[in-house]
Amino acid sequence: MLEEKQPTQQFTLKNDRYRKVRGGSAKFLDISCAACNTWILLYQKDGPGRVLRLYLNRIFAPPVLAQLQDRADIVETKNMTNLVCSSCGVVLGSPMKYDDGRLAYNLRHGLIAKKKSDGTYTPPPDTTNKE
Ligand SMILES: [Zn+2]
Repeated sequence: MLEEKQPTQQFTLKNDRYRKVRGGSAKFLDISCAACNTWILLYQKDGPGRVLRLYLNRIFAPPVLAQLQDRADIVETKNMTNLVCSSCGVVLGSPMKYDDGRLAYNLRHGLIAKKKSDGTYTPPPDTTNKE
């Protein structure tokens, strides 16, 4: 791992059949832990309505979570682990499979905070050097 400052990544909203089914609109959201305010992930929300679950194929960052959708060993919920806040350890969501076949995290009520995002992600310069 390099310890140089990582460049900010700019993501583009996915436009696919899942988005079409939800009416075609989409936006980026920063999802955080409501308890301790730690940023958890960058998410694409399709269509209107509340965020009840986080589909793996809508997670753009951080890489460790964004890569789950491409992992050949993660095909069922039993291959997944809970979504846990990296800072305070609270369990934010549990693995589920939605009706359309997508794997997702079923969110526990009221444990996340969300904020509109411009779709950028800046990796932390050095994860071992906090505080
Ligand atoms: Zn937390």
